Amino acid sequence: MVATVNKIIPFSTVDGPGNRTAIFLQGCNMNCLYCHNPETRGKCMHCGACVNSCPTGALSLKGKRVSYDCRKCIHCDSCINVCPYDSSPKTAEMTAEEVWQAVQKQIPFIRGITVSGGECTLYPEFMLELFTLAQANGLSTLIDSNGTLDFELYPDLLDVTDGVMLDIKAFDPEEHKRVTGLSNELVIKNARYLASKAKLYELRTVVSPGLYNTEQTIIQTADLLSPYLSIRPIRYKLISYRPMGVRPQYKETLQIPTHKQMEYYAGLLAAKGFKDIIII
Ligand code: SF4
Ligand code: SF4
Repeated sequence: MVATVNKIIPFSTVDGPGNRTAIFLQGCNMNCLYCHNPETRGKCMHCGACVNSCPTGALSLKGKRVSYDCRKCIHCDSCINVCPYDSSPKTAEMTAEEVWQAVQKQIPFIRGITVSGGECTLYPEFMLELFTLAQANGLSTLIDSNGTLDFELYPDLLDVTDGVMLDIKAFDPEEHKRVTGLSNELVIKNARYLASKAKLYELRTVVSPGLYNTEQTIIQTADLLSPYLSIRPIRYKLISYRPMGVRPQYKETLQIPTHKQMEYYAGLLAAKGFKDIIII
């Protein structure tokens, strides 16, 4: 099974518990206004627009395709800043076996792997193969998802998944559509289903005052999921909007919450029975 890989970070301490290898897959079916890595959204069209932006000659046109030489790359991001397709010339098509070969080198130093994106669940069969290999070798497996794959239809994938980190970007379907371009019926269905199966490891909500009704989202999400906390504790990560990496047209219009606002939302969650609440 093949996926388009944006990057593999050998050691990450921010993508789940312990030291983990994080694999970022290319492509996303949402278009969040506050997206912090828009270069993971689209597919490279090999248009060549980025080639001349590269200061080191790491990019070149070979026939009708852009070629990337990682040995020359200084990671300046000039190429992704000029890409008109929210993509990157540094992506690679890799089989699950090839990604596993890269992960295997880190086994003595990591507790598990996390697959993120873009939206990694665009590649469910690839993840099934990769996670099967990882679990067979004693690694834990986490999915970082926007919740648009109907997990109930992929029991084999869930069997080899230790937990899902799920974004709740707004509870109201219309607000969710305004923030992300998609409605959230499936996201909410997944949240309930995953919690009932003890597979919901973490919820994440990005807070930007005025973007959507945050209080309503927090309360309704907590009401939906607090009955399942006795099955498995669910971490709730409240993420303050920050403009780093955000597309220029949205940078100026979105607001950063105060710490006091974030503490208020954490208090709402605590009152509903959530114990593991992180503000970042
Ligand atoms: S990364 Fe973007 S700019 Fe570069 S070739 Fe691909 S689509 Fe064109
Ligand atoms: S990130 Fe690498 S490939 Fe892209 S422009 Fe900079 S040096 Fe070139």
